[in-house]
Amino acid sequence: MIHNRMLLLPGNEVTAITETVQEPQLEERNPDDCLYGPFEVTFENNYQIRVWVINSDPPVIQSALYDQSGELLDGPVVAETAELDQDYVFIDGPDQYEMRISRAANTVITDDELTTYVEAGGGHCPCCGCDDIHHSSFQVDGQQASRGTECLNCGANWKDIFQLQTVSRDAEDFRAPTRNVRRPS
Ligand SMILES: [Zn+2]
Repeated sequence: MIHNRMLLLPGNEVTAITETVQEPQLEERNPDDCLYGPFEVTFENNYQIRVWVINSDPPVIQSALYDQSGELLDGPVVAETAELDQDYVFIDGPDQYEMRISRAANTVITDDELTTYVEAGGGHCPCCGCDDIHHSSFQVDGQQASRGTECLNCGANWKDIFQLQTVSRDAEDFRAPTRNVRRPS
């Protein structure tokens, strides 16, 4: 049986190493020793793969497989890199646990993504394309209305902005004045 999960990471990059630390055992890992992580993926049977980027010189990635009670089953596997762009595979007996890790490069919405989004009338995440999105209620401010929108797939959130465009003069939408008033001059 193969268990497969995907983890989408924010598009952060390792830009500075502040200090070299002595690497303690995995279980004693101080959160301050981590540049990033732990990033965790939980499988249906509650096994977990966790991945850290360790603040050593050079930075390394450590990954490990845990069972449902938090027992370390496999690992730590150390990769001499700080790039979280690889797949992590662990074997536990006949089971294979695979976490595909993928970097969300979309830390900004590009002009093309924005155009596609607006022309489609929204409805999908501009960062990952998923249509599993959640809208907050509209806020109206003069000519503009906006609403917060969140992607439930990748966690991106953004604000949709709407502009007052026209007024519907359809009979079902428009009611003429009920008092005898002059038109505005
Ligand atoms: Zn998304």
